[in-house]
Amino acid sequence: MSNDNQVKSFWKSTYKVLEKPFLISEKIVYRFIMAPFRWLLEKIDPLAEKIEGTLFRKILQVSIYPLFLVLCVYIGFELVRGGYTIRSFLGTILLFLVFGAIFAPLEHLIPFSKKWLNDKETPTDVMLFFGHKFWGDYINAPIKLATITLVVQEISPEIGRNIWPMGFNPVLQVFLLLSVKDFFRYWYHRWMHESEFMWSWHAVHHSSTRLYWFNGTRSHPIEGLISSILWGIPLAFIHAPAEIVFVTGILGRTIGRFQHTNMDILAGPLDYIFSSPKNHRYHHSKKIEEGNSNYGGDVIFWDILFGTFHLPKGETPSDDIGIDGMPNYPQTFLGLMLAPFNYRKIKREAEAIETNKKRM
Ligand SMILES: [Zn+2]
Ligand SMILES: [Zn+2]
Repeated sequence: MSNDNQVKSFWKSTYKVLEKPFLISEKIVYRFIMAPFRWLLEKIDPLAEKIEGTLFRKILQVSIYPLFLVLCVYIGFELVRGGYTIRSFLGTILLFLVFGAIFAPLEHLIPFSKKWLNDKETPTDVMLFFGHKFWGDYINAPIKLATITLVVQEISPEIGRNIWPMGFNPVLQVFLLLSVKDFFRYWYHRWMHESEFMWSWHAVHHSSTRLYWFNGTRSHPIEGLISSILWGIPLAFIHAPAEIVFVTGILGRTIGRFQHTNMDILAGPLDYIFSSPKNHRYHHSKKIEEGNSNYGGDVIFWDILFGTFHLPKGETPSDDIGIDGMPNYPQTFLGLMLAPFNYRKIKREAEAIETNKKRM
């Protein structure tokens, strides 16, 4: 065996050993922790058939999205009144539990795709969520804070001191902050699709074969680190009040759950304002021309302005989503964490699979 092959086989066996505990945990989560929830949620499926084509279903489809957006801003300001202006680890977990208790049953009641009710990817998403939370709080946050403080101090902490329109209606301020934040997010997201190196990191988010309320958080932690620094610096110069940042955070999290939800929402004009379930489904399309559109994370009008908006009238996005031409893209927790480092190898293997297919 050549030296090169020996190194390859050493890495292969190390990877297999390292992957074992993750695979076992994923199996335990799927078989035992998720089983009672799956059993309960499946009880809703016959009800979904019963309400098919009824006025009740239509009312749900039209009202849930705007109702939630209004409600989360209202609750956000109520929390501010109660003295909360900082998001905590426990608060985030609690928020996601509340989201899950509402979104998961509704996705079974009014599903956009029945195929997407399959929850095989969920254990990986759960591990990614907690991994992210840990990485975000203990690694990203201090690095982000140190970088932003350094940049702001070096340039001038006074810049932008009077920019923020404090006198505006607070709800308007929330919407303004959401839009400004998303302007930076839009360009970062577009860059991740247009540069192959950046795509190798962002592909983790597009690896999912289904969309549901929870997997908007599926992404590589390094992507999160770079993005939080990139948006954090300009936002630090804006000096928006802490309570506006807090409520904008809650609104952003709510929009994020809807962006990936499998609920068959009819958003109407909101499809042209927010990154909605319908326009974001096109973003996850296997077709490059559809996938390279609708980059908005919270709002969608930057796409409309910069010519990347895709929402053909009278059409429904396909539920066959994921990364085209890469059936070998990893789907396990460790595989996804290492995928950006192995991207060239995965791509070479995928090309070999395609060539073999054509030969047959
Ligand atoms: Zn993307
Ligand atoms: Zn997405």
